[in-house]
Order: sequence, then C-alpha cells, then structure tokens
Amino acid sequence: MMNDEFWQAILACDASYDGSFFYGVRTTGVYCRPSCKSKNPKRENARIFATANEAAASGFRPCKRCRPDAVKWPDEEVTAGVKRIIERRYHEPLTLSSLALELHISPYHLHRVFKRMAGRTPNDYLRDTRMDAAQKLLEGTDSSMAEIALKVGMPNAAHFSTVFQKHFGIAPSAFRNRMRYLS
Ligand SMILES: [Zn+2]
Repeated sequence: MMNDEFWQAILACDASYDGSFFYGVRTTGVYCRPSCKSKNPKRENARIFATANEAAASGFRPCKRCRPDAVKWPDEEVTAGVKRIIERRYHEPLTLSSLALELHISPYHLHRVFKRMAGRTPNDYLRDTRMDAAQKLLEGTDSSMAEIALKVGMPNAAHFSTVFQKHFGIAPSAFRNRMRYLS
C-alpha cells in the first residue's frame, strides 16, 4: 500500500516523516527512512512499513546509508537530552546543528520535537538559560559585563547587553545597580 503522501515524502527525502514510516524496495531488498538520499525506487517496487521491525520481519535489510535500524529516541528523551546539554554547557557556543549532531538526529527533527514538547525552540531555551545565569552572576558577583557575557556563552558583550535588555526590559548594568540598591 502506497499513498500519495508517503510517496511524495520519499521523493522529497522529507526528514519530517522520519519515524512515521519506513519503505522497503523489493528489487534491492533494502529498507530506508523517508529522508534517505539514495536513488528513488520505482513506485511499484516500494513497500511501506510502519516500523523498522516490520520491514526486517518481511526480510528487508537496513540501508547502510540512512541506518533505519538505528535506535530512534522517544521525544521525551530528545527533549531531556537537549535540556541537559544546554543546562550544563550554555557557556559553550551551542547551535541547533551542534545539538543535533551530538544527539544523532536531524536539526529539523530536533527543533520540531523540542518545540512541541518544551513549548519553545532550543534557541529560546538556550537564551533563557543564559539569561537566568547572567542574572545570577550580576546579582551575586562583581564580574565585569564582559566576563559575565563570556561566562554565559555570549563572548560579544554588546550583543549580550542587547539580548539581556530585550529579555528583562532593563540593561544589565542598570539591573545590577537596582539589585545593589534594593539589598
Ligand atoms: Zn536508505
């Protein structure tokens, strides 16, 4: 059974369908993820499976290129993995691509899953984490703006200041003064 939606996903190597189905190719005996970049099969030779296990049980071998048999993380684990990396290493130059690489999933899939599960994008989460850390450092240390910017992974102090102002509605130096004044 091959519906048009799945067939279009195969032709487009659409990674957003990864995990929703697998396809086997009768002529080669290999099965793939929708995103696989290998040559497109003839439609009549393609067969859809709901899971990798079903494909394997029907005698298909996993493709060496797209590794459809590799463990697919549940959404909760992807989300927890992203949070764990960001919370421990927000001072590093993390990006969507570097997170995705580390978690062995596509950036697109990571972004989509995280946003659905966490209610914000990985970039938002990274920024929020950095801003919380910056707030604590401004309150609790005498570090300079440049040092704090660096400590929260934003080596460009002017950029840090702009993001902070936008996030809290107050410049970092004014925030520190206010904290000092209040205590
Ligand atoms: Zn493949």
